[in-house]
Parts: sequence; structure tokens; C-alpha cells
Amino acid sequence: MRCDVCNVRMPIGSGERITPEIFVYLLDNGFGLDESNIKMFTDAGMSRSEAESELKEQYRSSNSDWLLCSTCAAKAKAISERTETWVTPDYISVTRTAEEVGAGFIVLGAPVAISRAVWEECVEWTDRDSEHQTYQEQDARLWDVLFTGGTTLQLAINQFVKERAHRYPVLCVLRDGISTDSVTVNLLMQGKQIRGQSWLVIERDG
Ligand SMILES: [Zn+2]
Repeated sequence: MRCDVCNVRMPIGSGERITPEIFVYLLDNGFGLDESNIKMFTDAGMSRSEAESELKEQYRSSNSDWLLCSTCAAKAKAISERTETWVTPDYISVTRTAEEVGAGFIVLGAPVAISRAVWEECVEWTDRDSEHQTYQEQDARLWDVLFTGGTTLQLAINQFVKERAHRYPVLCVLRDGISTDSVTVNLLMQGKQIRGQSWLVIERDG
């Protein structure tokens, strides 16, 4: 038997089985592409990004369970223990922080996700961004988006139940490589089905 991700040989009966659904979730969070498999495609003349998207497409369409060696299983476990994980390529779960914020999020009790656009512009922040733009911390940026969202949602909860949407502005320094001052960004919170589950998602409004 071999590991389905890294091809290492394993003793019979060892390894950990995961479902295709969980594998796709891990794939969205940067797991599952082994260098040896990427190399097969790049050796055949593909660019690295072409090879990665080709592999991802193949893996996504697979309906069988995946068998992981202990090393790959440990990597997969570390991903599932992260505070934020991508639930699809377009939405990142921020449920744990939303639970800390409480307020309107507790009232609704749904898992909470942020769109890729909002994450990349209003939340994501590295030391390099602090050097190029202004000093910020990613955790504080996420907190701003969720705290403003959760508290304004709580005040407008009846309206949310009626309209199924909550709009609110948040002040943030856009991660664009040049901005140093905050601007108002209009956000839209609404329900959305993701992989058969009801989520509360936060996106750019308009
Ligand atoms: Zn492995």
C-alpha cells in the first residue's frame, strides 16, 4: 500500500482514510499536492501553476476515499486545527473568531465565512505589508470586520430576519501595496448554502 498523497510505501493495515469531501477541504487549504506529482507534469512541459491546477482538478473529481500515511495525516490534522480555514476556494471560515465576538453571531448561531475579496483586502496582513504600507496586525483587522459586523447585526437583527441581509460599513486600510489611511468599505452579510450547510457570509457590498 502507498500513501495517496506522497506515494510513500506503508505497512498493510496502517494509514488513515479520509473522505473525498474532507480531502477537497484540505486541498483548498494548501494540502495534498506532492512535489513528485507536480514534477510529473512540469517534466511533460507544463508550467508549475498549470500542473497545480491540473492536479487539483483531477483530485476534485475523485469519488474514492484517500489513504494517508502518518506524516500526511499529521499535516492534514494541523490544517484542521487552524483558526481560519478555506471552506471553498472563495470563502474562508472565521467561525471561531465570530464566536469570540458573540453579539449577533451568537443569536444566529451559524458558521461564519468571509469572501476571498474581503479577506485579501480587509483582513490579510503580513510584516511585509506593515513595511510597505502602515503598521497593522491581521488578527486586529479580522476582529474589526467581525466585531463591527456582529454588534451592528445584533442591533438590526429583526431587519436581518426580514430581509435576509445585513449591510454595514467598516473602516480598514486596504491591502493594496500603497494605502496608509483607512477608508470606509461597505460589507454585506447574508445567508448562503456552502457544501449543503447554511453559512453566514460576509462579502463586499456592490
Ligand atoms: Zn503521505
